[in-house]
Amino acid sequence: MNEMEMLLTPERLKELGVWQFGVISTDQIPFSEEARTMCENNVCQSYGKSWACPPAVGTVAECREACLAYQKILVFSGCYQLEDSFDYEGMVAGAGEFKHVCERLYSEIKEITEHFLLLSNGKCSRCSVCTFPENPCRYPELLYPALEGYGVMVSQLAARAKINYINGANTVTYVGGILWNP
Ligand code: SF4
Repeated sequence: MNEMEMLLTPERLKELGVWQFGVISTDQIPFSEEARTMCENNVCQSYGKSWACPPAVGTVAECREACLAYQKILVFSGCYQLEDSFDYEGMVAGAGEFKHVCERLYSEIKEITEHFLLLSNGKCSRCSVCTFPENPCRYPELLYPALEGYGVMVSQLAARAKINYINGANTVTYVGGILWNP
């Protein structure tokens, strides 16, 4: 077991706010131009809004190549309660909390290695006004690109990692990934 595997134990992941997780090989990540088309159609209103999303992240082929530089991906999720299925504020709050989970994971992993890639969900909203596209990102080290923006079919990814993409009525689930070499 290497340092990363010793760090990312089920107990520690739970303490950091992870709901479920599963580890698969990066060659099982389901990349698809269809996912990118959804971005281009602005399904989540984030296209071209930050350095974490297309077009800033490059083509799907480039994103795939970046991922395949690593051998393993730990797919993880956060699950958050909603008042009802129309609870938009709850969804936004859940997305914010999931970003905090990513921050905590990043801080822990950074202590032991520089060589990993953390992918999150949706656009980056760290700054009140993003510098995209006029100027470089203010915090490139803390930029966690969107899995969807990388061209990943996240529902399929979750299924392959044997975690739930949906966790029942009145909940919202967000999915991220940590890529590394054992
Ligand atoms: S960290 Fe700031 S500048 Fe960089 S992508 Fe996020 S919002 Fe934009």
